[in-house]
Amino acid sequence: MRVATTVAEMRALRRGMSGDVGFVPTMGYLHEGHLSLVRAAREANAHTVVSIFVNPTQFGPGEDFERYPRDTERDLSLLRDERVDVVFMPPVEEMYPDGASTFVEVEGITDVLEGAHRPGHFRGVTTVVAKLFNIVQPTRAYFGRKDAQQLAVVRKMMRDLQRDIEIVGLPIVREPDGLAMSSRNAYLSPEERAAALVLSRALNKAGELFAAGARDAEALRRAMRELIGAEPLARVDYVSVADPATLQELDRIESSALASLAVRIGRTRLIDNVTLGESTTTPS
Ligand code: AMP
Repeated sequence: MRVATTVAEMRALRRGMSGDVGFVPTMGYLHEGHLSLVRAAREANAHTVVSIFVNPTQFGPGEDFERYPRDTERDLSLLRDERVDVVFMPPVEEMYPDGASTFVEVEGITDVLEGAHRPGHFRGVTTVVAKLFNIVQPTRAYFGRKDAQQLAVVRKMMRDLQRDIEIVGLPIVREPDGLAMSSRNAYLSPEERAAALVLSRALNKAGELFAAGARDAEALRRAMRELIGAEPLARVDYVSVADPATLQELDRIESSALASLAVRIGRTRLIDNVTLGESTTTPS
C-alpha cells in the first residue's frame, strides 16, 4: 500500500494504474461503514484508492472541525488489511493552496435538510469531491447512504458537470443495537450512547407505521418527533419524510419516501435515514 500526501504524488501513482480505479473518499477514523465501501470498491475495480481528508470547508463556524476524531495509524492499518492500493491523505494546504477561490455549488437540493441546517456545508463537500475526483480520476466512486443527501448532491453534480464517474451508493452499516456507525459516535458518553438509539428507533417506528399502511407523511414525522421528544438527552434538528428524488417534504407518500433526521445528543449531532417503500429513484 502506498501513501500519497501531495497531489503530485497521487497523480504519479494514478498514472501507474491501468484498468478500473475505485475511489472511496473519507474523513478517516474508519469504521465498518467505511470498510464496506472499500470492499465494494476492491471487488469491482483493478485498483482501490481511499482518501482521508478532514475537509475544513464543509464545517461551519462552531462545528467540530478542530476536534474531529483522528487516528491515522489505525486507519492505515485497517486499509492495509483491506489491501487498498493507495491512500491519499493530503494536508489542508495541499487541497486548498493559498488563494484558491473556486467553489462548486449545487443549487436546489442543497437548500433543504442538512443544507438548511448547515449553511455552506454542501458547497464544501461538492468542492472537495470535485477536486478529489480531478486528482484521483477514478472509474467509480463509493458513497454511503448514511449521508443520503450527500449522495444525491454528488450524483446531481456529476450529471450537471457531465462527468462520467460512476457513483455507487451502499447501505448503512449499523451497530448490533441499530445505531448507524459514525466517526462522531466516539464523542458519546455511555449515557449519550444509550440515548442515541432514539434515531434508529424513530426511523423503525416510521417504518412500522408505513408497513401498517400509514401514508400521511406528517403523521410519520409527528410519531418520530414524539419518540425522540421522550428522550431527555435528545434535541431534534429536523425530522423529515421527503420525496427520495427531490428531497422535498411530502404530504402523502405515494410509492416511496426518504425518512431522515438529525438529532443532537448532548453536543453531538447525529444523522440517520431509511427509505420507505420500493423506489426506482433511490440511489443504488
Ligand atoms: P465520512 O468519513 O463520515 O465523510 O464518510 C465517508 C463515507 O463513508 C461517506 O460516503 C459516508 O456516507 C460513508 N459512511 C459513513 N458512515 C457509514 C455507515 N454507517 N454505513 C455506510 N456508509 C457510511
